[in-house]
Amino acid sequence: MITTVLPTYNRAPLSFVKGEGSWLVEADGRRFLDLGAGIAVNALGHANPDLVAVLKDQADTLWHVSNLYKIPQQQALADKLVDETFADTCFFTNSGTEAGELAIKMARKYWSDKGQPDKIEIITFEGCFHGRSTGAIAASGSEKMTKGFGPLMPGFVHLPWGDHDALRAAVGEKTAAIMIEPIQGEGGIRTVPDQCLKGLRDLCDENGILLIFDEVQTGVGRTGKLFAHEWAGVSPDIMMVAKGIGGGFPLGAVLATEDAASGMVAGTHGSTYGGNPLGCAVGLKVMQIVADPAFLADVNRKGALLRQKLEGLVASHPDVFEAVRGTGLMLGLKCKVAPGDLVTRGYDQNVLTVPAADNVARLLPALTITDDEISEAVARIDAAASALESETT
Ligand SMILES: *Cc1c(COP(=O)(O)O)cnc(C)c1O
Repeated sequence: MITTVLPTYNRAPLSFVKGEGSWLVEADGRRFLDLGAGIAVNALGHANPDLVAVLKDQADTLWHVSNLYKIPQQQALADKLVDETFADTCFFTNSGTEAGELAIKMARKYWSDKGQPDKIEIITFEGCFHGRSTGAIAASGSEKMTKGFGPLMPGFVHLPWGDHDALRAAVGEKTAAIMIEPIQGEGGIRTVPDQCLKGLRDLCDENGILLIFDEVQTGVGRTGKLFAHEWAGVSPDIMMVAKGIGGGFPLGAVLATEDAASGMVAGTHGSTYGGNPLGCAVGLKVMQIVADPAFLADVNRKGALLRQKLEGLVASHPDVFEAVRGTGLMLGLKCKVAPGDLVTRGYDQNVLTVPAADNVARLLPALTITDDEISEAVARIDAAASALESETT
C-alpha cells in the first residue's frame, strides 16, 4: 500500500523536533551536528534569533498580500539585492526551481522581443541540477531525472563537463543563453575554474548570448563571497537565487540586468506567494547579515579551517577519501567508498552530511558554525571513516 506521503524520497531513519544553530535535536534528546543545513538553506543556523525576531514581528503584522498591491518588504529586499550585486531588477519566487523557470522564460522573451524568435536554445552541462519541474528536468537532460516524463520541453543543448571544443561547436544561430552553476552542488561540488567562467562570459559577449548563473546553492555567502561568481570577477545577465536567501523560509529570486529583463513587462510573469511579506522580511535580514564584509571574511576563515582539517582526514584515511574540493563553506569529500555509506556511518556518530553525485559527500554547514563545532564535526567524520575502515578490513 502506498504511504500517505508520496514515496519520492529515500529518507534516513532520523526525525528532528528542534534546531539550534548548527545542531538538530531528536525527540529523545539526541543532538546531531548538522553539516547539511537543509542543503545550504539554513545559512544562519537553525532558529537564528535575529531571523526568528523578524519573522515573529512580521507574522504579527501581515502575512500575505497579493502582488496586485505594493509590498514594502519586497521592495526593500529588491533594493538591497540590486545594491549588492550586478543586477538592476529582481523577481521573487518560493523556490530555486521557480527561479529557473523565469530565467528560461526571460532568456526566450529577450530574443523574441529583439526580433529573433528562433534563438531558443539554452546550453547546459552534464551533471547540472536546476530543479525538478518539467522545464528544469529538460534543462538537466539526465536520464535519472527525465526517464518516464517525456516528451521533454525542447530547446536545451546538453554538453559534456569541461569540453571547450564541444562548447564552441554548440554555439550557433539558435543559441539564446548558457546556464551554469559556478560550482555544481548536486553534481558533486564540481567547480567551474575562474578562467572558464571568464571564458564563458567572453564567449557570450562575442556571440551576443545571455549568461545565466544558477547560484541557488552557491549564493548568499556560501563560498565566502556574497555570490560565487564574484571570485571570477565576471557577472551574469540573469541569476537564480534561493536556498540560503530565506535562511529556512521558502524564498527564491531571479536577478537580472535591465537589458536581459527588458522583455518582462507587466502581465508576462507572476506568482501568488512569490515576494510575500514574511519571506521578504526574513530575506532582507539574511542579506543584511551576510553581505557584511566582516561576516564574509569569517566565512572564508572558517572555510579554510574546515578545509585544512579535512585535508588531514583525507591523509589519515586514504582508503576512504580521495580529496577535498570546493570553496568557502561549500566543501565536498571525494570518496573511494560509496558516499552514502559515509553519510550513514556519520549518523551513528551524530553528524549530518549530504551525499552528492560523483562519489562526493557534501559539507554545507551553517555559515555561523563555530571553530569548536568545526573541530567536533571533523572528529565525528573521522570516527565515521574509522568505522567504515574496520568494516572493510
Ligand atoms: C536546489 C537547487 C535548485 C532547485 O531549488 P528548489 O528550491 O529545490 O526548487 C536549483 N538549482 C540548484 C543549483 C540547486 O542546488
